Amino acid sequence: MAPTILPPLHPELRYHNYGSYLARRLGGPAARISVDGGFTCPNRDGAIGVGGCSYCNNDSFTPGIRFPGLPVEEQVRRSIQSPGRHHAYRRFLVYFQKFSNSYAAPGDLLRRYRAAFAHPDVAGIIVGTRPDCLGEAVLDVLSEISRDRYVCVEIGLQSMSNAVLRHVNRGHTVETFASAASALRDRGIDVGVHLIYGLPRDTRARFLSAAPFLSRLGVQGVKLHHFHVVAGSPMEAAYRGGAVKTPVYGEYLSACVDFLERLSPEVAVIRLIGSAPDHLLLAPRWGKGPREMAADVTAELKRRGTFQGARRNGGEWRKAHDER
Ligand code: SF4
Repeated sequence: MAPTILPPLHPELRYHNYGSYLARRLGGPAARISVDGGFTCPNRDGAIGVGGCSYCNNDSFTPGIRFPGLPVEEQVRRSIQSPGRHHAYRRFLVYFQKFSNSYAAPGDLLRRYRAAFAHPDVAGIIVGTRPDCLGEAVLDVLSEISRDRYVCVEIGLQSMSNAVLRHVNRGHTVETFASAASALRDRGIDVGVHLIYGLPRDTRARFLSAAPFLSRLGVQGVKLHHFHVVAGSPMEAAYRGGAVKTPVYGEYLSACVDFLERLSPEVAVIRLIGSAPDHLLLAPRWGKGPREMAADVTAELKRRGTFQGARRNGGEWRKAHDER
C-alpha cells in the first residue's frame, strides 16, 4: 500500500519544500532577491584565515546578484522592477548573499539590513554567513529586526568532520556551528544550513549523520550542495593535478534521498543541488539543475516507497561524529 504523505511534506514532492514553508510562515508565496551588501569574509582578510575555503570562488556562488555595487535599497528596487520571474510575486525576501553578511560592526549591520525594507513589498531578509560571525552584538541586531520582520540566517556547516573542515580551510568547527545554530534558535530566528556532499576526505556516512543532527538542532531549512570545482578557487590546481575527485550524479542522488529519509519532516529543503556559472564550472558537469534534481529525488523516493523522515532514527550522528 502507498504511504500516506502528511503535511508539512509536499504531497507530490514527498519532501518538505522551503517554498511551502515560506508561504505558510509569511501568509503567501515569496521570491528571493539576492543582493551584495558590501561585506567581506574573515576567512580571506586574515581575521580568521587567509585564502578562503579551498572550494570558494565567491563569484561562482552569487550569479543571482544583478546590481552589485549599488546601495542595497537600489539593488532591491531595480531587482523587483526588472522583468523576470519576480513579476509573479507580491512579497519578497532580500537575500544578503555575497561573502559573510554579518561580518561588520553592529550599527553598520543594522543600517544595511534596514535598507532592504525601503521597498514596501519586502517581508524579510535572509542573511548568509559563517557560524563564527554571530557574536552577541550581531545576534542582538538580528533579534531587533526579527521583532517585526521575517529573518532567516543561513550558515555553513558543510561537513560533519572537523578534520575535513580543517582540510578545506573552513576555519570553524562543527561545535562552532552547533553553538551558533542554537543561539539563533534560542532567539526564535530561523536557521538555514548549507551542507556539501563529497568534499575531499569526507564520507557518505558523515553526510547522512547530519540529518539527525540538524533535526535535533531544530533548524528550519537545509541547502544541500554537491562538491564541485570552480575556476579561480584554491582547489582548482589540485583538481587539475588529479588530486581531488568530484562525485558522480547517481551517487549524489542516492545520498540525498538517503539523507532526506533520515531528516525530520519539519526541516524544509531549500536546495538539493549546487550550481555555478558555466564559464567557471570545471567539474562535475552533469547538465542538471534544481528542477531536474527535484524531479529525480521525488522519483527515487517514489521508487523506494518512502518520503522525508521515513527512516528517522537516533544515534547515527554520535557514531559518525566520534569517528571523525
Ligand atoms: S565560502 Fe564563504 S566563508 Fe568560505 S571563503 Fe568563501 S565567502 Fe568566505
